[in-house]
Amino acid sequence: MSALILDGKEVAARVRAEVAEAVASLPYRPGLATVLVGDDPASQVYVRGKHRDASEVGFRSFHHEVPADTSQEELEDLIERLNADPEVDGILVQLPLPAGLDAEAAVERIDPAKDVDGLHPFNLGLLVLGRDGLRPCTPAGVVRLLDHYEIPIAGKRAVIVGRSFLVGRPLGLMLSERGVDATVTVAHSRSGDLAAITREADILVAAAGAARLIGAGHVKPGTTVIDVGINRVDGKLVGDVDFDPVAEVAGAITPVPGGVGPMTRAMLLANTLTAARRRRG
Ligand code: NAD
Repeated sequence: MSALILDGKEVAARVRAEVAEAVASLPYRPGLATVLVGDDPASQVYVRGKHRDASEVGFRSFHHEVPADTSQEELEDLIERLNADPEVDGILVQLPLPAGLDAEAAVERIDPAKDVDGLHPFNLGLLVLGRDGLRPCTPAGVVRLLDHYEIPIAGKRAVIVGRSFLVGRPLGLMLSERGVDATVTVAHSRSGDLAAITREADILVAAAGAARLIGAGHVKPGTTVIDVGINRVDGKLVGDVDFDPVAEVAGAITPVPGGVGPMTRAMLLANTLTAARRRRG
């Protein structure tokens, strides 16, 4: 293996340390509220992790767990209560929601100033405009990781595989905005000859949710490869990138686990701090 490993765990620990240092100098403790609907085991694990992180950096955390048969109205009432609670700076509704609940409508109920997942249409709109707002955690984590390792972005070709509103699209906006200055291609399931597109990349981001979709033949030598994918194959966690062969060709690569995942969690903390400072002045 010749590629440099981009260690998301280490960089995430730095982000947490920065947030903790900032919190220690505040006259209040930022508050993060999470809402978990139902008892999906993966969601429970994610939410627990977010609370651990929150208490580690000195936040207050408030957890609301409601049954899977909660109505849309009850869920939105809970969100309204959290919007009105002065101790709550950030609200996270753990997705996906159980069938029958409208996740888009729930997210739109969150006060944009407390939308620490950065998924409210208002915050996504600010991103389109290139203005300050709360930005989605996963793409923000990818940019932070690239910055940490001083991977050149300006003038480079970035190819993102996946066009979801959660990852691919916002990341395309972030990498192409003024001051970051990549030339971005967003590929998707209808793109045709994927390898021909991805071989153009200086920075290749795989966010398709397709195990080992990206092989060595998809990658130009020296490319920085960021693997956002999380897939379970035979009980094992694998990314969208076939790690071993790609690491022979790439210049730098993120592992799964230990790459983008920890960065996503860390950026939630950074967003909560930002939201608290803006709200409380
Ligand atoms: P999604 O299903 O909403 O979107 C997937 C996108 O990939 C779609 O735009 C689709 O067109 C494209 N795609 C799918 N198969 C493809 C193929 N064979 N060729 C080209 N394009 C293809 O998924 P999402 O929410 O964006 O998540 C993507 C992956 O990232 C999932 O594995 C998810 O678990 C993971 N994820 C990880 C983190 C993290 O913190 N590491 C955060 C969010 C999502």
